[in-house]
Amino acid sequence: MSQQQKITLIGAGLVGSLCAVFLAKRGYQVEVFERRPDMRKDNISAGRSINLALANRGIYPLQQVGLMNQVNKMVTPMKGRMIHSLNGEQNLQPYGQRAEEVIYSVSRADLNKLCMDAAEEKGNVTIHFNHRCLDVDFEKNLLLIKNELTGEEYQHPFERVIGTDGSASAVRDAIHKVNSTSNRVEPLGHSYKELCIPALNGDFQMDPNALHVWPRGGYMLIALPNMDCSFTVTLFMPNEGDISFKEINTEEKLLKFFNSHFPDAVPLLPNITQDYFDNPTGNLATVRCTPWHYQDKALLIGDAAHAVVPFHGQGMNCGFEDVSEFDAQIEKWGSDWQNVFSETDRLRKPNGDAIADMAIENYITMRDSVRDEKFLLRSALAFELEKRYPEYFCPRYSLVMFHRLPYAEAQQRGEIQEQILCQLTESVSDISDIDFSKAESLITEKLSQVTLNP
Ligand SMILES: Cc1cc2nc3c(=O)[nH]c(=O)nc-3n(C[C@H](O)[C@H](O)[C@H](O)COP(=O)(O)OP(=O)(O)OC[C@H]3O[C@@H](n4cnc5c(N)ncnc54)[C@H](O)[C@@H]3O)c2cc1C
Repeated sequence: MSQQQKITLIGAGLVGSLCAVFLAKRGYQVEVFERRPDMRKDNISAGRSINLALANRGIYPLQQVGLMNQVNKMVTPMKGRMIHSLNGEQNLQPYGQRAEEVIYSVSRADLNKLCMDAAEEKGNVTIHFNHRCLDVDFEKNLLLIKNELTGEEYQHPFERVIGTDGSASAVRDAIHKVNSTSNRVEPLGHSYKELCIPALNGDFQMDPNALHVWPRGGYMLIALPNMDCSFTVTLFMPNEGDISFKEINTEEKLLKFFNSHFPDAVPLLPNITQDYFDNPTGNLATVRCTPWHYQDKALLIGDAAHAVVPFHGQGMNCGFEDVSEFDAQIEKWGSDWQNVFSETDRLRKPNGDAIADMAIENYITMRDSVRDEKFLLRSALAFELEKRYPEYFCPRYSLVMFHRLPYAEAQQRGEIQEQILCQLTESVSDISDIDFSKAESLITEKLSQVTLNP
């Protein structure tokens, strides 16, 4: 590889900054155009959610570039869902059954800043803040860039451009102007609003080692811990309907809604009215497009290629996994960019589609199924089958969160496993009544053995 080869990234969000670290390590000259100011200097929010769940697929690429030691100091482990019932009871539903099977709450801004610092430290990365990409001319290899401070628009040459510019990607739109099979943004019809449970006397007001969920059927509240002992709380709710962002539009309606549906959360949310009416309402949508690349000139990764709804906590994790796969293809193909891009696209696209589907399904699990006795029985049985037949059976949630088996395979195995679980629990209400000899024959007949990376 020529040390002088230049790669241009559009977007210095989580995926763009981590990608810059990988590319810089390989010796490329990396330039990044980021439409926002430098969040390390200006006090801007990182946009979207304040904290995120980091899991194995996101951890592995951070380990590959040696950042995990620093990230470890920024995270709070969450060992399960703490379900808040209407009567205030709390029950922990563990995510896994081994000590290491936890996910980690991390500040989006801190992680983004760490990746930016690590990229710039290499010496061959330049980030141009306040510079927005408006369009890409693939015939002339020119980017149309707007300086957001001066309003000036200018053309800038590129050799290869990587679209890491998030769900409303300008690079995606440019690729799909010249070559498109499909480019769809599918709105969920539900949105989110962030609220805050502050620390009290320097301490957490709830168990910090859990992801708190108030499942209420068509909508839900969740809370993730922060390092300063606060919790970021997110209300997910339909855009329209009886209980919706459109309908809950006065302080009186808001307080009535919270007092009836989340009574135990109300005393913990001292600024609920201000947070609700001042904070933006975030839209939720799935992006599905193909192709993710254009010739040997451009590639999309992260939300630019596959924004997913946040209910599996995998958007960033999936984007980080894209970066790792992109790097593996560079290792394999060197400067043959046509193959680097088309192979990254071919290998990642089915996985982007799979996590998009599983994320939508998980909304129903989180807001509703977690309260259902049959769901709890199937979850308990899934753990038991994992214990008895570890080379065959691993709960789907674990496959997605604690392992790196491709998402598409996790989805396929998950479907078969769900059929097995439903069949075994059909006329049973307690795990002690399960017919384990039937379980064994179903498992060995329907599932192949699985090799899992930790
Ligand atoms: C409420 C919520 C909760 C979430 N929780 C989780 C979670 O727990 N775990 C998880 O893994 N994921 C989670 N996600 C998903 C995660 O936020 C995204 O998958 C992740 O941010 C994608 O990173 P990205 O870098 O691809 O895109 P982004 O984070 O959107 O970054 C894109 C960057 O590009 C810049 N940009 C955009 N357009 C241009 C342009 N034209 N020119 C120049 N720059 C541009 C933007 O300013 C931004 O800095 C959540 C998302 C939401 C909305």
